[in-house]
Amino acid sequence: MAQRRNSRAGKRRGGVLGALGFAALVLIVYLAEPLGLGSLLGGIFGGDVPVSVIAELPEEGLAVSYIDVGQGDATLIVCNGEAMLIDAGVPEEGQTVVDYLTASGVDSLVYAAVTHAHDDHCGGMDDVVDAFPIGTLFAPYTEFDSSGAFTYFEDAAAERGLYITVPTIGSTFTLGGATVSFVGPVGDWGDDLNDSSLIIRVDYGSRSFLFPGDASDGTIADCAYVGGYDLDCDVLKLGHHGSSTSTDEEILDLTTPEIAVASCGLDNSYGHPHDEVVDLLAVRGIELLRTDLDGTVTVWTDGEELSLYEAGEQAA
Ligand SMILES: [Zn+2]
Repeated sequence: MAQRRNSRAGKRRGGVLGALGFAALVLIVYLAEPLGLGSLLGGIFGGDVPVSVIAELPEEGLAVSYIDVGQGDATLIVCNGEAMLIDAGVPEEGQTVVDYLTASGVDSLVYAAVTHAHDDHCGGMDDVVDAFPIGTLFAPYTEFDSSGAFTYFEDAAAERGLYITVPTIGSTFTLGGATVSFVGPVGDWGDDLNDSSLIIRVDYGSRSFLFPGDASDGTIADCAYVGGYDLDCDVLKLGHHGSSTSTDEEILDLTTPEIAVASCGLDNSYGHPHDEVVDLLAVRGIELLRTDLDGTVTVWTDGEELSLYEAGEQAA
């Protein structure tokens, strides 16, 4: 499922243009806020404008960074100084993830989770395991019969004396005042490796974030229908990089996010995020952030307000 990153020159131009576009939006929102034009802008942009944009990331609170790793996933969650990583991109991006964590002041991880064995998710995790002390390593299985990246991840963990923990679905853990919950998958995942994805929810104060890996829409919905878990969230990382196989009307009814994030590579051959998904989000007024256009995207909350912080260019 992985795709080699597009040329770095092309990516960089996209990143700069994306950053400029983001900066323009930030400026417009910033100027409009004191004038009470937020709702007007919401109309222009087809939805609610994010409540605020911040230039500096507070040390307190919860920061979720969707790291730009091209076509893949890597998400850093830091809550009151404690850090968790979900996925680490393709093998070629492992060092990008390590560098991002280091630049973010992370020197250890309380948790690291591999959502599933595709190399655009677990590919860089061996580098992360080599670089940082890790409290608990999570994955949906302890071994996977392939010669792919999951094997390198297994080997790296074994060399560090780390066991891979398969979380009990429904279990919860604390991360610096936030609650991390494993809400899926709730049934057999059959032949589709994407549906083996660990589906993770993070709650902090009244705010919540959902990370469905590459699970398909039916598997995500079953977390609610079969597992009885609450999928309602404020920020949804779109399943499978914004594929229409993971996001439909039903998923948006269940999750009702204010912000959706697509973690995908510029001009990727899969067409992620799919137009149908982009259109669905626009109709509902859900803000779409994209790592291919915006670079690394960070959403911060104090448990009440949601803010956007863009750190991609300085941390890359
Ligand atoms: Zn993927």
